[in-house]
Amino acid sequence: MRKLVAGNWKMNGLKADGLALARALVLRAAAGDPPECELAVCPPATLVGAVGETLRGSGIALGGQDCHAESSGAHTGDIAAVMLRDLGCTYVIVGHSERRANHGESDAQVRAKAKAARGAGLIPILCIGETLAERDAGEALDVVERQLAGSLPDGLKDEQIVIAYEPVWAIGTGRTPTTDDVAAVHARIRKILKDRVKNGAGARVLYGGSVKPANALELLGVANVDGALVGGASLNAADFWAIAQHCP
Ligand code: PEP
Repeated sequence: MRKLVAGNWKMNGLKADGLALARALVLRAAAGDPPECELAVCPPATLVGAVGETLRGSGIALGGQDCHAESSGAHTGDIAAVMLRDLGCTYVIVGHSERRANHGESDAQVRAKAKAARGAGLIPILCIGETLAERDAGEALDVVERQLAGSLPDGLKDEQIVIAYEPVWAIGTGRTPTTDDVAAVHARIRKILKDRVKNGAGARVLYGGSVKPANALELLGVANVDGALVGGASLNAADFWAIAQHCP
């Protein structure tokens, strides 16, 4: 299985910033010594097309940050999975905790989005993760299991889905779980994937939450961690590249 390091740019960057960042990654890819892992970037919707043009031929994949469950219609402001596919996307993030919290997205809605992504030929990067209160209450494994059970579509094969475990309290905070805690959650996710996904042992499970060059080696070395979803550090080409270079 080839690991995946995906950058979630979130709502950051005007055209000049996004294109400069994409160009910096393309230059690194062309300079030789590419990372062993697959790389992907998920720019804001306004930049997906232009960044996709810049990345063309670089081997760096493109992704969206969200999609609607329908393929077209009266959904002002939303983006269909097929539209992302049309711009050259391979991936789309669904169920990010910021969307679950800020837009009230339920597991059922996330599941519908993941199904729509598959219908459009995209690979969903399906995010799950517990809040700090849930972790402190000793509920992290149960929460993750419930979210995954509720938001994972049926009938998928290993290469058709990526799961991202992102503890809400670790996103953008500089805090990370212990490697033992990451290992425990990823082992539970793997067990569910083996039950629910064809060849679930081969499906990639990313860790996300304050991944930086300084902690990437340790986090990416944990059992059943098949890459990283990187927020803040993906806005800096050198940091994003350094994280990918740490992918064993
Ligand atoms: C994210 O939001 O997906 C994320 C992992 O953010 P950060 O790396 O900034 O914690």
